[in-house]
Amino acid sequence: RTVPGELKWAASPSEGGWEEVSIMDEKNIPIRTYQVCNVLEPNQNNWLRTDWIPRSGAQRVYVEVKFTLRDCNSLPGVTGTCKETFNLYYHESNEDRESYIKENSFIKVDTVAADESFTQVDVGDRIMKLNTEVRDVKVTTRKGFYLAFQDVGACIALVSVRVFYKTCPLTVRNLATFPDTITGADTSSLVEVRGSCVNQSEEREEPKMYCGADGEWLVPIGGCLCNPGYEEKGGACKACSAGFYKAKSTDPGCAKCPPHSHSLRDGATVCDCHSGFFRADSDPPSMACTQPPSAPQQLISVVNETSVVLEWAPPHRLGGRSDTSYSLECLICQTGSHGHTGVRLCAPCGSDVLFSPGQAGLKTTRVVVSELRAHTHYTFIVHARNGVSQASGAGAAQSVSVSVTTNQATPSPVSFIQATDVTRHSLSLSWQQPDRPNGVILEYEVKFYEKDQRERSYRIMRTFSRSVDVTGLNPLTVYVFHVRARTAAGYGEFSTPFEFSTNSDPFPLIGEGVNSAFLLLSVSGVGILLLISAAVFIISRRRSKYSKTKQDSEEEKHLNPGVKIYVDPFTYEDPDQAIHEFAKEIDVSCIHIEKVIGMGEFGEVCSGRLRAQGKREIYVAIKSLKAGYSDKQRRDFLSEASIMGQFDHPNIIRLEGVVTRCKPLMIITEYMENGSLDAFLRKHDGQFTVIQLVGMLRGIASGMKYLSDMNYVHRDLAARNILVNSNLVCKVSDFGLSRVLEDDPEAAYTTRVRHIPIRWTAPEAIAYRKFTTASDVWSYGIVMWEVVSYGERPYWDMNNQDVIKAIEEGYRLPAPMDCPVVLHQLMLDCWERDRAERPTFSQILNMLDKLIRNPGTLRTITCISTFILPTGTMLESGVGSEVCVSVIPEMCVEMDRLGIITPSHQDMLIASVQQEIFSQMQHMQHTMVPV
Ligand code: AMP
Repeated sequence: RTVPGELKWAASPSEGGWEEVSIMDEKNIPIRTYQVCNVLEPNQNNWLRTDWIPRSGAQRVYVEVKFTLRDCNSLPGVTGTCKETFNLYYHESNEDRESYIKENSFIKVDTVAADESFTQVDVGDRIMKLNTEVRDVKVTTRKGFYLAFQDVGACIALVSVRVFYKTCPLTVRNLATFPDTITGADTSSLVEVRGSCVNQSEEREEPKMYCGADGEWLVPIGGCLCNPGYEEKGGACKACSAGFYKAKSTDPGCAKCPPHSHSLRDGATVCDCHSGFFRADSDPPSMACTQPPSAPQQLISVVNETSVVLEWAPPHRLGGRSDTSYSLECLICQTGSHGHTGVRLCAPCGSDVLFSPGQAGLKTTRVVVSELRAHTHYTFIVHARNGVSQASGAGAAQSVSVSVTTNQATPSPVSFIQATDVTRHSLSLSWQQPDRPNGVILEYEVKFYEKDQRERSYRIMRTFSRSVDVTGLNPLTVYVFHVRARTAAGYGEFSTPFEFSTNSDPFPLIGEGVNSAFLLLSVSGVGILLLISAAVFIISRRRSKYSKTKQDSEEEKHLNPGVKIYVDPFTYEDPDQAIHEFAKEIDVSCIHIEKVIGMGEFGEVCSGRLRAQGKREIYVAIKSLKAGYSDKQRRDFLSEASIMGQFDHPNIIRLEGVVTRCKPLMIITEYMENGSLDAFLRKHDGQFTVIQLVGMLRGIASGMKYLSDMNYVHRDLAARNILVNSNLVCKVSDFGLSRVLEDDPEAAYTTRVRHIPIRWTAPEAIAYRKFTTASDVWSYGIVMWEVVSYGERPYWDMNNQDVIKAIEEGYRLPAPMDCPVVLHQLMLDCWERDRAERPTFSQILNMLDKLIRNPGTLRTITCISTFILPTGTMLESGVGSEVCVSVIPEMCVEMDRLGIITPSHQDMLIASVQQEIFSQMQHMQHTMVPV
């Protein structure tokens, strides 16, 4: 229609078919048409082909044909050859200059008929009916295509042919641009198109849309968001103006800067803080700018022993924030010698200091600082911080400090107790020093009770060491133990309870399980008839008789219930300090000396009377230090009082006090009317009953038990050092020798050798100065012998060297005349070579108590043995693992469990005893045969 000149489309046949005809349109403008109208002739096949049409990326093209078509009926004389349709064809080709029409290469698009309603078109004087038909066709294979119109005998004029394709037009949807997009090849096809974000925007979700076949955009998905600093306006992203900001793309739009901040340029993503204001890393841009807090206020400290409670008020200015937190700095300080004017040297406290609820990041304004050192200067600095303290660079400035000095404190509790050695009647306990001793630990206190008894009744033991042997327990019983430590500040808390049970192993004590049999042996030799009465004890596992008893003071340091531990006065630098701690100073005017009663190492001993203020007058003994004494003598003299003053027991001589403020120095003790025991017994030879003698021995044992419980080793236990009062009560005295050999190995054998009471001293103490409670037990055995023999000199007139040798060879003192066999057996037990085998004073005391309760045991036994045979060889025992032992120790006879001696056993025993006695007589009659 719009082509001005000739189109010159290819037609076939070139003559008589389609013809290019110019006509006038309704506005009298000439237009080109192609016409054919061979309605009267049959078999028409007229082709008209367009020029090559480039496809230009289209996949489906639309062909709009405008034409007029004559109604066959309106044509006069027309027969059945007249048609009212034509056919539309296409042919895809890369060749844009095909010269002729290859009919068979064309594909039919459709048969096109005239519409039912015709448009009336006035062409000159004629009225034409103009039809418009549109067909679409898929063209996808070549660069372009040709269209062809086939006429088969109609009367047609093609007025216009318009070929076009459809696109979805460029569009912006959700801030994504979608380009102009050619529709798909099929009528139902949707072309997926990815959009691209508009300037200053970023993808929120991949923007996508579909281009429908008719050029409509469908189903938008995803989209974009304006970048920080930009907001959407009219489908585009525009920068925030000054004073506004947008921090995140997802923020809805630009917002006004928060308080204390500003933005000077467009497009701000965050507003800058005004000077002096800050923003923490974690603060959102929408938050106002803030300031660090001022210092905490009104810091107060309350010291409680080694804890300090610190409390303060929040800072005056919180800086507009609510995240104020506090931290504590702990400094341990040494003050210079001039107190507050001195230089304070401070260092950070160690990691062992505890802060509750914590040291840093505190939200509360109260902290308990514990586990501090006792009596120490500390400085505590409380810092207030908030989220902008670091940003402001002023974190350390907002602080307040306080200096405190901790108090003396009691030790922390002992945390763990263990039982190392458990027997039927005893437990060995040990424990660790408390984590926080808070000073020098002066002693430990052990509290224990039978679990069943709860705390209704309990016992207390005290010790210096971190272990203790608890004796006198019931078998198979659960005991509960608590331990606490004491410093100068007092006792700490008791430990939590620890439970241990004694066990049920048989642990025979002296006198238990005794089967006695007596052998009367008549032996004649050298004109002497000896009657040997041997009490034979069957004691299972004889070797373990006292083996559970540790006698070594160093290993053991055990104490008994309710008894304090002995403190060596020589550990005091100043002897006067010890004396004043343990002895009372007596005004010399209260003392009336009456007469001289004896001679001590340092001077006379007098008797007299003491009338202390407000007390009744009592008789006292007064020991004085003779004039011209050396410092050492003074010290040694007073040490006896310092030791004695620590004891409080009915069988220990009681110290009334000392006179040190004027001369002569005096030690005042209770008066013992009957003087020393050895002289007393000699004076009353044979005048006491066995029970009376055992009663005296019991008193001495009781006093010695008390001393051993206090961890005191006497070293000079002998009848001469026992004093007797008017009631025959025996009391241990003379505490001067306890340290003679201490720490001075030379002294033992050179200058002070005269001090070693050889006859009373255990071999290990003589040999290597092993003075222990067990060596005191040995001496006690000798005292027993002295008592039963009414003050006889032990080993009679043998010299010291012979005594040492005889003991070494296994000889022991025989039973004194009329000595009950059980007593002699007890003596022999005290003289066991192995000190661990000797009984303890506690066991001795039990044994004597038993004898006193059953005097029959003492009366029925007559002990007239004369010789004590060397230890060493044992006669074989044939009864299981039982071993029988006799008072003649190694005169061991095989016996049955009941202790019945069969005639053959008796014969054997008599024969061996005879043999032993004869050989002894030959060697020893001059030294060991007193009667
Ligand atoms: P001493 O050297 O301390 O053992 O004393 C020497 C002597 O004084 C003793 O053998 C006793 O005869 C006597 N003696 C010491 N203390 C007392 C006392 N408390 N009561 C009676 N006599 C005592």
